Amino acid sequence: LTQISDHVQRGNYAELNDKDVSHFEQLLGKNHVLTEDLEGYNICFLKRIRGNSKLVLKPANTAEVSAVLRYCNERRLAVVPQGGNTGLVGGSVPICDEIVLSLQRLNKVLSVDEVTGIAIVEAGCILENFDQRARDVGLTVPLDLGAKASCHIGGNVSTNAGGVRVVRYGNLHGSVLGIEAVLANGQVLDLMSNFKKDNTGYHMKHLFIGSEGTLGVVTKLSMLCPHVSKAVNVAFIGLNSFEDVLKTFVSAKRNLGEILSSCELIDELALNTALTQFKFLNSPISGYPFYMLIETSGSNGAHDEEKINQFISEGMERGEILDGTVTGEPGKVQEIWKIREMVPLGLIEKSFCFKYDISLPLRDFYGIVDVMRERCGPLATVVCGYGHLGDSNLHLNVSCEQFNEDIYKRVEPFVYEYTSKLKGSISAEHGIGFLKKDYLHYSKNPVAIDWMRDMKKMFDPNGILNPYKMLN
Ligand code: FAD
Repeated sequence: LTQISDHVQRGNYAELNDKDVSHFEQLLGKNHVLTEDLEGYNICFLKRIRGNSKLVLKPANTAEVSAVLRYCNERRLAVVPQGGNTGLVGGSVPICDEIVLSLQRLNKVLSVDEVTGIAIVEAGCILENFDQRARDVGLTVPLDLGAKASCHIGGNVSTNAGGVRVVRYGNLHGSVLGIEAVLANGQVLDLMSNFKKDNTGYHMKHLFIGSEGTLGVVTKLSMLCPHVSKAVNVAFIGLNSFEDVLKTFVSAKRNLGEILSSCELIDELALNTALTQFKFLNSPISGYPFYMLIETSGSNGAHDEEKINQFISEGMERGEILDGTVTGEPGKVQEIWKIREMVPLGLIEKSFCFKYDISLPLRDFYGIVDVMRERCGPLATVVCGYGHLGDSNLHLNVSCEQFNEDIYKRVEPFVYEYTSKLKGSISAEHGIGFLKKDYLHYSKNPVAIDWMRDMKKMFDPNGILNPYKMLN
Protein backbone atom coordinates (compact mmCIF):
# COMPACT_ATOMS: atom_id res chain seq x y z
CA LEU A 1 0.00 0.00 0.00
CA THR A 2 1.47 3.34 -1.03
CA GLN A 3 0.98 6.34 1.21
CA ILE A 4 1.40 8.80 -1.60
CA SER A 5 0.77 12.06 0.19
CA ASP A 6 4.46 11.95 1.13
CA HIS A 7 5.49 12.01 -2.53
CA VAL A 8 2.99 14.52 -3.88
CA GLN A 9 3.32 18.25 -3.56
CA ARG A 10 0.09 19.38 -1.87
CA GLY A 11 -1.79 21.97 -3.94
CA ASN A 12 -2.37 25.46 -2.64
CA TYR A 13 -5.66 24.60 -0.92
CA ALA A 14 -7.09 25.74 2.40
CA GLU A 15 -6.71 23.46 5.43
CA LEU A 16 -9.91 22.07 6.87
CA ASN A 17 -10.83 23.60 10.27
CA ASP A 18 -13.46 23.07 12.96
CA LYS A 19 -15.60 25.86 11.57
CA ASP A 20 -15.80 24.06 8.24
CA VAL A 21 -16.84 20.84 9.92
CA SER A 22 -19.58 22.64 11.90
CA HIS A 23 -20.78 24.30 8.72
CA PHE A 24 -21.12 20.93 7.01
CA GLU A 25 -22.83 19.43 10.05
CA GLN A 26 -25.41 22.18 9.91
CA LEU A 27 -25.87 21.70 6.22
CA LEU A 28 -26.11 17.89 6.06
CA GLY A 29 -26.83 16.81 9.64
CA LYS A 30 -24.19 15.36 11.98
CA ASN A 31 -24.75 11.77 10.84
CA HIS A 32 -23.73 12.57 7.34
CA VAL A 33 -20.44 14.27 8.19
CA LEU A 34 -17.84 11.65 9.07
CA THR A 35 -14.56 12.46 10.77
CA GLU A 36 -13.69 8.99 12.09
CA ASP A 37 -13.16 5.51 10.62
CA LEU A 38 -12.33 6.91 7.21
CA GLU A 39 -9.96 4.12 6.15
CA GLY A 40 -12.35 2.63 3.56
CA TYR A 41 -12.78 6.03 1.89
CA ASN A 42 -9.04 6.74 1.83
CA ILE A 43 -7.81 3.50 0.29
CA CYS A 44 -8.33 2.56 -3.34
CA PHE A 45 -9.76 -0.79 -4.43
CA LEU A 46 -6.39 -2.14 -5.51
CA LYS A 47 -4.88 -1.02 -2.19
CA ARG A 48 -2.21 0.88 -4.06
CA ILE A 49 -3.12 4.34 -2.87
CA ARG A 50 -3.85 5.65 0.56
CA GLY A 51 -4.96 9.25 0.95
CA ASN A 52 -5.26 11.19 4.14
CA SER A 53 -8.72 12.74 4.15
CA LYS A 54 -10.07 13.87 7.49
CA LEU A 55 -13.63 14.37 6.30
CA VAL A 56 -16.28 12.47 4.38
CA LEU A 57 -19.48 14.24 3.38
CA LYS A 58 -22.65 12.44 2.41
CA PRO A 59 -25.17 14.82 0.86
CA ALA A 60 -28.67 13.50 0.19
CA ASN A 61 -29.61 15.42 -2.94
CA THR A 62 -28.49 17.78 -5.67
CA ALA A 63 -29.18 20.89 -3.58
CA GLU A 64 -26.89 19.60 -0.82
CA VAL A 65 -24.14 18.68 -3.30
CA SER A 66 -24.44 22.18 -4.71
CA ALA A 67 -24.24 23.82 -1.27
CA VAL A 68 -21.19 21.72 -0.34
CA LEU A 69 -19.33 22.59 -3.54
CA ARG A 70 -20.20 26.29 -3.38
CA TYR A 71 -18.74 26.43 0.12
CA CYS A 72 -15.64 24.41 -0.79
CA ASN A 73 -15.02 26.59 -3.81
CA GLU A 74 -15.26 29.78 -1.79
CA ARG A 75 -12.99 28.35 0.90
CA ARG A 76 -10.62 26.70 -1.65
CA LEU A 77 -11.10 23.28 -0.07
CA ALA A 78 -10.24 20.41 -2.41
CA VAL A 79 -12.82 17.65 -2.99
CA VAL A 80 -12.75 14.13 -4.41
CA PRO A 81 -16.11 12.77 -5.62
CA GLN A 82 -16.48 9.12 -4.68
CA GLY A 83 -18.95 6.51 -5.94
CA GLY A 84 -18.50 2.84 -5.09
CA ASN A 85 -14.70 3.22 -4.91
CA THR A 86 -14.17 0.29 -7.27
CA GLY A 87 -12.14 2.32 -9.78
CA LEU A 88 -8.82 0.81 -10.76
CA VAL A 89 -6.73 3.92 -11.44
CA GLY A 90 -6.74 5.62 -8.05
CA GLY A 91 -9.21 8.30 -9.19
CA SER A 92 -11.75 7.96 -6.39
CA VAL A 93 -9.56 8.39 -3.32
CA PRO A 94 -7.89 11.47 -1.94
CA ILE A 95 -4.21 11.91 -2.69
CA CYS A 96 -3.55 14.38 0.13
CA ASP A 97 -6.29 15.60 2.44
CA GLU A 98 -9.14 16.30 -0.01
CA ILE A 99 -12.65 16.10 1.37
CA VAL A 100 -14.37 12.93 0.17
CA LEU A 101 -17.78 13.73 -1.33
CA SER A 102 -19.59 10.41 -1.26
CA LEU A 103 -22.61 10.00 -3.51
CA GLN A 104 -23.89 7.00 -1.52
CA ARG A 105 -27.10 8.67 -0.40
CA LEU A 106 -28.20 9.76 -3.85
CA ASN A 107 -29.29 6.21 -4.48
CA LYS A 108 -32.82 6.33 -5.87
CA VAL A 109 -34.12 5.08 -9.16
CA LEU A 110 -36.56 7.91 -9.86
CA SER A 111 -38.45 6.35 -12.75
CA VAL A 112 -38.33 3.56 -15.28
CA ASP A 113 -40.60 3.95 -18.27
CA GLU A 114 -41.55 0.68 -19.85
CA VAL A 115 -42.80 2.34 -23.02
CA THR A 116 -39.87 4.61 -23.83
CA GLY A 117 -37.24 2.44 -22.13
CA ILE A 118 -35.91 5.50 -20.35
CA ALA A 119 -34.84 5.34 -16.72
CA ILE A 120 -33.98 8.30 -14.54
CA VAL A 121 -31.62 7.52 -11.72
CA GLU A 122 -29.58 9.29 -9.08
CA ALA A 123 -25.82 9.01 -9.43
CA GLY A 124 -25.19 7.04 -6.24
CA CYS A 125 -27.44 4.11 -7.17
CA ILE A 126 -25.54 0.83 -7.20
CA LEU A 127 -25.47 -0.60 -10.73
CA GLU A 128 -26.94 -3.96 -9.71
CA ASN A 129 -29.83 -2.28 -7.86
CA PHE A 130 -30.53 -0.07 -10.84
CA ASP A 131 -30.57 -3.12 -13.12
CA GLN A 132 -32.92 -4.94 -10.77
CA ARG A 133 -35.38 -2.03 -10.87
CA ALA A 134 -35.19 -1.95 -14.66
CA ARG A 135 -35.77 -5.71 -14.79
CA ASP A 136 -38.96 -5.33 -12.74
CA VAL A 137 -40.52 -3.86 -15.89
CA GLY A 138 -38.71 -6.07 -18.40
CA LEU A 139 -35.82 -3.72 -19.15
CA THR A 140 -32.10 -3.95 -18.40
CA VAL A 141 -29.27 -1.48 -17.91
CA PRO A 142 -27.07 -1.70 -21.02
CA LEU A 143 -23.93 -1.96 -18.90
CA ASP A 144 -22.60 -4.88 -16.92
CA LEU A 145 -19.29 -5.34 -15.16
CA GLY A 146 -17.74 -7.44 -12.44
CA ALA A 147 -18.00 -4.65 -9.86
CA LYS A 148 -21.77 -4.27 -10.35
CA ALA A 149 -22.63 -5.06 -6.73
CA SER A 150 -20.63 -2.04 -5.48
CA CYS A 151 -20.04 0.47 -8.27
CA HIS A 152 -22.44 3.38 -8.71
CA ILE A 153 -24.07 4.35 -11.97
CA GLY A 154 -22.64 7.87 -11.47
CA GLY A 155 -19.16 6.34 -11.09
CA ASN A 156 -19.77 4.31 -14.24
CA VAL A 157 -20.74 7.41 -16.18
CA SER A 158 -17.85 9.43 -14.75
CA THR A 159 -15.39 6.76 -15.92
CA ASN A 160 -17.32 5.93 -19.11
CA ALA A 161 -17.17 2.33 -17.90
CA GLY A 162 -17.25 -0.28 -20.63
CA GLY A 163 -17.83 -3.79 -19.34
CA VAL A 164 -19.00 -6.91 -21.08
CA ARG A 165 -21.85 -5.68 -23.33
CA VAL A 166 -20.25 -2.87 -25.30
CA VAL A 167 -20.19 -5.19 -28.28
CA ARG A 168 -23.98 -5.11 -28.22
CA TYR A 169 -25.08 -1.79 -26.76
CA GLY A 170 -22.12 0.51 -27.39
CA ASN A 171 -20.64 2.63 -24.63
CA LEU A 172 -22.28 5.12 -22.31
CA HIS A 173 -21.92 8.03 -24.72
CA GLY A 174 -24.76 6.39 -26.60
CA SER A 175 -26.98 5.14 -23.79
CA VAL A 176 -26.84 8.13 -21.47
CA LEU A 177 -29.45 10.55 -22.78
CA GLY A 178 -29.07 13.27 -20.20
CA ILE A 179 -27.04 14.32 -17.20
CA GLU A 180 -27.41 16.64 -14.26
CA ALA A 181 -24.07 17.78 -12.88
CA VAL A 182 -23.04 20.19 -10.17
CA LEU A 183 -20.11 22.38 -11.11
CA ALA A 184 -17.27 23.40 -8.82
CA ASN A 185 -18.94 26.74 -8.03
CA GLY A 186 -22.15 24.98 -6.98
CA GLN A 187 -24.07 25.77 -10.15
CA VAL A 188 -26.42 22.98 -11.19
CA LEU A 189 -26.02 22.21 -14.88
CA ASP A 190 -29.23 20.57 -16.07
CA LEU A 191 -28.50 18.60 -19.22
CA MET A 192 -31.27 16.09 -18.65
CA SER A 193 -32.98 14.86 -21.79
CA ASN A 194 -35.35 12.07 -22.62
CA PHE A 195 -34.51 11.82 -26.27
CA LYS A 196 -31.94 10.13 -28.41
CA LYS A 197 -32.15 12.99 -30.79
CA ASP A 198 -31.40 16.44 -29.47
CA ASN A 199 -29.13 18.51 -31.68
CA THR A 200 -29.48 21.79 -29.87
CA GLY A 201 -25.96 23.11 -29.75
CA TYR A 202 -22.93 21.56 -28.12
CA HIS A 203 -23.49 18.10 -26.68
CA MET A 204 -22.26 19.08 -23.25
CA LYS A 205 -23.36 15.91 -21.46
CA HIS A 206 -20.47 14.10 -23.13
CA LEU A 207 -17.99 16.22 -21.18
CA PHE A 208 -19.13 14.55 -17.99
CA ILE A 209 -19.02 11.03 -19.40
CA GLY A 210 -15.50 9.87 -18.64
CA SER A 211 -14.18 13.07 -17.06
CA GLU A 212 -13.62 11.26 -13.74
CA GLY A 213 -15.04 13.93 -11.47
CA THR A 214 -12.64 16.61 -12.68
CA LEU A 215 -15.24 18.87 -14.33
CA GLY A 216 -18.29 18.40 -12.13
CA VAL A 217 -20.18 16.03 -9.88
CA VAL A 218 -22.80 13.95 -11.67
CA THR A 219 -25.96 13.86 -9.56
CA LYS A 220 -28.58 12.41 -11.90
CA LEU A 221 -28.89 10.91 -15.36
CA SER A 222 -31.32 9.44 -17.81
CA MET A 223 -30.47 6.23 -19.56
CA LEU A 224 -31.93 4.33 -22.46
CA CYS A 225 -32.51 0.76 -21.30
CA PRO A 226 -33.08 -2.06 -23.78
CA HIS A 227 -35.60 -4.86 -23.20
CA VAL A 228 -34.36 -7.94 -21.39
CA SER A 229 -33.67 -10.60 -23.99
CA LYS A 230 -36.01 -13.57 -23.87
CA ALA A 231 -33.22 -16.02 -24.62
CA VAL A 232 -29.65 -15.81 -23.39
CA ASN A 233 -27.12 -18.47 -24.35
CA VAL A 234 -23.51 -18.67 -23.34
CA ALA A 235 -20.74 -20.67 -24.97
CA PHE A 236 -17.46 -21.31 -23.17
CA ILE A 237 -14.90 -22.63 -25.61
CA GLY A 238 -11.27 -23.73 -25.61
CA LEU A 239 -8.83 -22.81 -28.37
CA ASN A 240 -5.27 -23.55 -29.24
CA SER A 241 -3.88 -20.26 -30.52
CA PHE A 242 -4.64 -16.58 -30.68
CA GLU A 243 -4.99 -16.95 -34.44
CA ASP A 244 -7.87 -19.33 -33.83
CA VAL A 245 -9.35 -16.84 -31.37
CA LEU A 246 -9.42 -14.18 -34.09
CA LYS A 247 -10.95 -16.57 -36.63
CA THR A 248 -13.60 -17.54 -34.11
CA PHE A 249 -14.38 -13.88 -33.37
CA VAL A 250 -14.86 -13.16 -37.07
CA SER A 251 -17.06 -16.24 -37.34
CA ALA A 252 -19.09 -15.11 -34.32
CA LYS A 253 -19.72 -11.72 -35.91
CA ARG A 254 -20.62 -13.31 -39.22
CA ASN A 255 -22.83 -16.10 -37.90
CA LEU A 256 -24.25 -14.70 -34.69
CA GLY A 257 -24.26 -11.02 -35.77
CA GLU A 258 -27.59 -9.69 -34.55
CA ILE A 259 -27.73 -11.80 -31.38
CA LEU A 260 -24.08 -11.53 -30.30
CA SER A 261 -24.06 -9.74 -26.94
CA SER A 262 -20.61 -10.45 -25.51
CA CYS A 263 -17.26 -11.74 -26.64
CA GLU A 264 -14.64 -12.15 -23.94
CA LEU A 265 -11.18 -13.71 -23.94
CA ILE A 266 -9.41 -15.40 -21.03
CA ASP A 267 -5.98 -16.93 -21.37
CA GLU A 268 -4.95 -20.10 -19.59
CA LEU A 269 -2.96 -18.46 -16.81
CA ALA A 270 -5.73 -15.96 -16.06
CA LEU A 271 -8.27 -18.76 -15.81
CA ASN A 272 -6.05 -21.04 -13.76
CA THR A 273 -5.26 -18.27 -11.28
CA ALA A 274 -8.97 -17.67 -10.68
CA LEU A 275 -9.67 -21.41 -10.36
CA THR A 276 -6.82 -21.82 -7.86
CA GLN A 277 -7.89 -18.88 -5.73
CA PHE A 278 -11.62 -19.56 -5.74
CA LYS A 279 -12.42 -23.23 -5.29
CA PHE A 280 -16.14 -22.63 -5.73
CA LEU A 281 -15.61 -21.88 -9.43
CA ASN A 282 -16.24 -24.71 -11.87
CA SER A 283 -14.78 -24.49 -15.30
CA PRO A 284 -16.64 -26.76 -17.72
CA ILE A 285 -13.47 -27.31 -19.78
CA SER A 286 -9.77 -27.13 -19.02
CA GLY A 287 -6.31 -27.55 -20.50
CA TYR A 288 -6.43 -25.04 -23.40
CA PRO A 289 -4.19 -22.02 -24.00
CA PHE A 290 -7.19 -19.72 -24.68
CA TYR A 291 -10.83 -19.56 -23.70
CA MET A 292 -13.63 -17.48 -25.13
CA LEU A 293 -16.92 -16.64 -23.51
CA ILE A 294 -19.45 -15.86 -26.20
CA GLU A 295 -22.94 -14.76 -25.28
CA THR A 296 -25.99 -14.38 -27.46
CA SER A 297 -29.15 -12.55 -26.49
CA GLY A 298 -32.19 -12.79 -28.68
CA SER A 299 -35.91 -13.22 -28.75
CA ASN A 300 -36.27 -16.79 -29.91
CA GLY A 301 -34.64 -19.44 -27.71
CA ALA A 302 -34.82 -22.33 -30.16
CA HIS A 303 -33.53 -20.27 -33.06
CA ASP A 304 -30.68 -18.75 -31.03
CA GLU A 305 -29.66 -22.13 -29.63
CA GLU A 306 -29.57 -23.64 -33.07
CA LYS A 307 -27.43 -20.77 -34.34
CA ILE A 308 -24.89 -20.91 -31.52
CA ASN A 309 -24.64 -24.70 -31.70
CA GLN A 310 -24.04 -24.53 -35.42
CA PHE A 311 -21.42 -21.82 -34.91
CA ILE A 312 -19.60 -24.07 -32.43
CA SER A 313 -19.80 -27.23 -34.52
CA GLU A 314 -18.56 -25.44 -37.65
CA GLY A 315 -15.67 -23.95 -35.63
CA MET A 316 -14.85 -27.44 -34.37
CA GLU A 317 -14.98 -28.91 -37.85
CA ARG A 318 -12.48 -26.31 -39.01
CA GLY A 319 -10.31 -27.16 -36.00
CA GLU A 320 -10.47 -23.59 -34.65
CA ILE A 321 -12.52 -24.53 -31.58
CA LEU A 322 -11.17 -27.53 -29.68
CA ASP A 323 -13.84 -28.02 -27.07
CA GLY A 324 -16.75 -26.15 -25.64
CA THR A 325 -20.02 -26.06 -23.84
CA VAL A 326 -23.20 -24.14 -24.56
CA THR A 327 -25.95 -23.43 -22.10
CA GLY A 328 -29.12 -21.43 -21.93
CA GLU A 329 -30.04 -22.50 -18.42
CA PRO A 330 -29.99 -19.33 -16.29
CA GLY A 331 -28.12 -20.97 -13.36
CA LYS A 332 -25.42 -22.34 -15.63
CA VAL A 333 -25.17 -19.12 -17.61
CA GLN A 334 -24.48 -17.34 -14.32
CA GLU A 335 -21.92 -19.96 -13.29
CA ILE A 336 -19.95 -19.36 -16.47
CA TRP A 337 -20.15 -15.59 -16.11
CA LYS A 338 -18.92 -15.96 -12.53
CA ILE A 339 -15.69 -17.47 -13.86
CA ARG A 340 -15.08 -14.42 -16.05
CA GLU A 341 -16.02 -12.02 -13.25
CA MET A 342 -13.64 -13.64 -10.76
CA VAL A 343 -10.61 -13.49 -13.07
CA PRO A 344 -9.57 -9.93 -12.08
CA LEU A 345 -10.15 -10.72 -8.41
CA GLY A 346 -8.13 -13.95 -8.58
CA LEU A 347 -5.11 -11.96 -9.69
CA ILE A 348 -5.16 -9.61 -6.72
CA GLU A 349 -6.37 -12.11 -4.11
CA LYS A 350 -2.94 -13.02 -2.77
CA SER A 351 -0.55 -11.04 -4.96
CA PHE A 352 0.41 -7.58 -5.98
CA CYS A 353 -0.73 -6.96 -9.54
CA PHE A 354 0.34 -4.39 -12.12
CA LYS A 355 -2.81 -3.93 -14.19
CA TYR A 356 -3.04 -2.48 -17.68
CA ASP A 357 -6.22 -1.78 -19.56
CA ILE A 358 -5.32 -1.09 -23.15
CA SER A 359 -6.94 -0.90 -26.55
CA LEU A 360 -4.88 -2.55 -29.25
CA PRO A 361 -5.52 -3.39 -32.90
CA LEU A 362 -6.98 -6.88 -32.91
CA ARG A 363 -4.21 -8.47 -34.95
CA ASP A 364 -1.67 -7.30 -32.35
CA PHE A 365 -3.97 -7.85 -29.39
CA TYR A 366 -2.17 -10.63 -27.58
CA GLY A 367 1.47 -10.11 -28.62
CA ILE A 368 2.15 -7.81 -25.68
CA VAL A 369 1.41 -10.62 -23.22
CA ASP A 370 4.16 -12.79 -24.70
CA VAL A 371 6.53 -9.83 -24.86
CA MET A 372 5.87 -9.02 -21.24
CA ARG A 373 6.39 -12.62 -20.13
CA GLU A 374 9.79 -12.47 -21.76
CA ARG A 375 10.66 -9.12 -20.17
CA CYS A 376 9.61 -10.10 -16.64
CA GLY A 377 10.91 -13.67 -16.69
CA PRO A 378 10.79 -15.41 -13.33
CA LEU A 379 10.44 -12.11 -11.45
CA ALA A 380 6.69 -12.24 -12.10
CA THR A 381 4.50 -15.03 -10.75
CA VAL A 382 1.82 -14.60 -13.44
CA VAL A 383 1.77 -12.60 -16.67
CA CYS A 384 -1.59 -13.02 -18.34
CA GLY A 385 -4.18 -11.42 -20.56
CA TYR A 386 -7.94 -11.41 -20.64
CA GLY A 387 -10.59 -8.91 -21.55
CA HIS A 388 -13.15 -7.58 -23.90
CA LEU A 389 -11.89 -9.02 -27.18
CA GLY A 390 -15.04 -7.82 -28.95
CA ASP A 391 -13.99 -4.22 -28.21
CA SER A 392 -10.23 -4.68 -28.82
CA ASN A 393 -9.72 -4.13 -25.09
CA LEU A 394 -7.04 -6.19 -23.38
CA HIS A 395 -6.45 -6.41 -19.64
CA LEU A 396 -2.78 -7.19 -19.28
CA ASN A 397 -1.81 -8.27 -15.77
CA VAL A 398 1.58 -8.81 -14.24
CA SER A 399 1.46 -10.34 -10.76
CA CYS A 400 4.19 -10.75 -8.20
CA GLU A 401 4.22 -11.52 -4.49
CA GLN A 402 4.57 -7.88 -3.51
CA PHE A 403 5.32 -4.57 -5.16
CA ASN A 404 8.61 -5.06 -6.95
CA GLU A 405 10.57 -2.07 -8.23
CA ASP A 406 12.49 -4.22 -10.69
CA ILE A 407 9.33 -5.49 -12.39
CA TYR A 408 7.82 -2.03 -12.28
CA LYS A 409 10.75 -0.69 -14.29
CA ARG A 410 10.46 -3.52 -16.78
CA VAL A 411 6.76 -2.93 -17.45
CA GLU A 412 6.44 0.85 -17.25
CA PRO A 413 6.68 2.89 -19.39
CA PHE A 414 7.37 0.04 -21.82
CA VAL A 415 3.73 -1.06 -21.97
CA TYR A 416 2.64 2.48 -22.82
CA GLU A 417 5.33 2.96 -25.44
CA TYR A 418 4.34 -0.34 -27.02
CA THR A 419 0.66 0.64 -27.03
CA SER A 420 1.40 4.08 -28.42
CA LYS A 421 3.49 2.67 -31.26
CA LEU A 422 0.48 0.59 -32.30
CA LYS A 423 -1.73 3.69 -32.00
CA GLY A 424 -3.70 1.98 -29.25
CA SER A 425 -5.15 3.57 -26.11
CA ILE A 426 -3.27 3.43 -22.81
CA SER A 427 -6.61 3.37 -21.00
CA ALA A 428 -9.43 1.62 -22.78
CA GLU A 429 -12.10 1.83 -20.07
CA HIS A 430 -10.68 2.43 -16.59
CA GLY A 431 -9.68 6.05 -17.08
CA ILE A 432 -6.55 7.95 -16.16
CA GLY A 433 -7.10 8.81 -12.49
CA PHE A 434 -3.92 9.18 -10.47
CA LEU A 435 -2.04 6.08 -11.56
CA LYS A 436 -1.90 6.86 -15.28
CA LYS A 437 -1.71 10.64 -15.47
CA ASP A 438 2.01 10.64 -16.24
CA TYR A 439 1.29 8.52 -19.30
CA LEU A 440 -1.61 10.47 -20.82
CA HIS A 441 0.69 11.88 -23.52
CA TYR A 442 1.16 8.40 -24.97
CA SER A 443 -2.46 8.52 -26.15
CA LYS A 444 -3.24 12.24 -26.42
CA ASN A 445 -1.22 14.76 -28.37
CA PRO A 446 0.06 17.98 -26.72
CA VAL A 447 -2.53 20.20 -28.39
CA ALA A 448 -5.36 17.98 -27.11
CA ILE A 449 -3.86 17.95 -23.61
CA ASP A 450 -3.61 21.77 -23.65
CA TRP A 451 -7.30 22.00 -24.57
CA MET A 452 -8.15 19.57 -21.77
CA ARG A 453 -6.29 21.85 -19.36
CA ASP A 454 -8.12 24.92 -20.64
CA MET A 455 -11.46 23.14 -20.25
CA LYS A 456 -10.58 22.15 -16.70
CA LYS A 457 -9.71 25.78 -15.89
CA MET A 458 -12.96 27.01 -17.34
CA PHE A 459 -15.13 24.57 -15.38
CA ASP A 460 -13.12 24.65 -12.18
CA PRO A 461 -10.92 27.76 -12.02
CA ASN A 462 -9.80 27.04 -8.45
CA GLY A 463 -8.98 23.43 -9.27
CA ILE A 464 -10.91 22.07 -6.27
CA LEU A 465 -12.47 19.09 -8.08
CA ASN A 466 -10.45 15.90 -7.94
CA PRO A 467 -7.00 17.51 -8.01
CA TYR A 468 -3.86 15.45 -8.78
CA LYS A 469 -5.89 13.34 -11.22
CA MET A 470 -5.93 12.96 -14.99
CA LEU A 471 -3.85 16.06 -15.81
CA ASN A 472 -0.41 16.90 -14.43
P1 FAD B 1 -15.39 5.25 -8.12
O1 FAD B 1 -14.32 4.24 -8.13
O2 FAD B 1 -15.90 5.69 -6.81
O3 FAD B 1 -14.89 6.55 -8.92
C1 FAD B 1 -14.29 6.45 -10.18
C2 FAD B 1 -14.01 7.87 -10.71
O4 FAD B 1 -15.22 8.55 -10.95
C3 FAD B 1 -13.25 8.74 -9.73
O5 FAD B 1 -12.43 9.62 -10.46
C4 FAD B 1 -14.34 9.52 -9.01
O6 FAD B 1 -13.88 10.76 -8.54
C5 FAD B 1 -15.36 9.69 -10.11
N1 FAD B 1 -16.76 9.71 -9.67
C6 FAD B 1 -17.45 8.74 -9.03
N2 FAD B 1 -18.73 9.11 -8.89
C7 FAD B 1 -18.84 10.34 -9.44
C8 FAD B 1 -19.92 11.26 -9.62
N3 FAD B 1 -21.15 10.97 -9.21
N4 FAD B 1 -19.67 12.43 -10.23
C9 FAD B 1 -18.42 12.75 -10.66
N5 FAD B 1 -17.37 11.93 -10.52
C10 FAD B 1 -17.58 10.73 -9.93
N6 FAD B 1 -14.46 -0.94 -15.40
C11 FAD B 1 -14.86 -1.04 -16.69
O7 FAD B 1 -14.95 -0.01 -17.38
N7 FAD B 1 -15.20 -2.25 -17.23
C12 FAD B 1 -15.14 -3.40 -16.53
O8 FAD B 1 -15.43 -4.47 -17.05
C13 FAD B 1 -14.73 -3.32 -15.16
N8 FAD B 1 -14.68 -4.42 -14.40
C14 FAD B 1 -14.29 -4.32 -13.11
C15 FAD B 1 -14.28 -5.47 -12.33
C16 FAD B 1 -13.90 -5.40 -11.00
C17 FAD B 1 -13.90 -6.65 -10.17
C18 FAD B 1 -13.52 -4.15 -10.44
C19 FAD B 1 -13.12 -4.03 -9.00
C20 FAD B 1 -13.54 -3.01 -11.20
C21 FAD B 1 -13.91 -3.07 -12.54
N9 FAD B 1 -13.96 -1.93 -13.34
C22 FAD B 1 -14.37 -2.04 -14.64
C23 FAD B 1 -13.56 -0.62 -12.81
C24 FAD B 1 -14.68 0.13 -12.04
O9 FAD B 1 -15.61 -0.72 -11.51
C25 FAD B 1 -15.35 1.14 -12.93
O10 FAD B 1 -14.42 2.14 -13.25
C26 FAD B 1 -16.59 1.81 -12.31
O11 FAD B 1 -17.25 2.56 -13.32
C27 FAD B 1 -16.29 2.72 -11.15
O12 FAD B 1 -17.49 3.06 -10.50
P2 FAD B 1 -17.50 3.52 -8.96
O13 FAD B 1 -18.86 3.94 -8.59
O14 FAD B 1 -16.86 2.50 -8.11
O15 FAD B 1 -16.59 4.82 -9.06
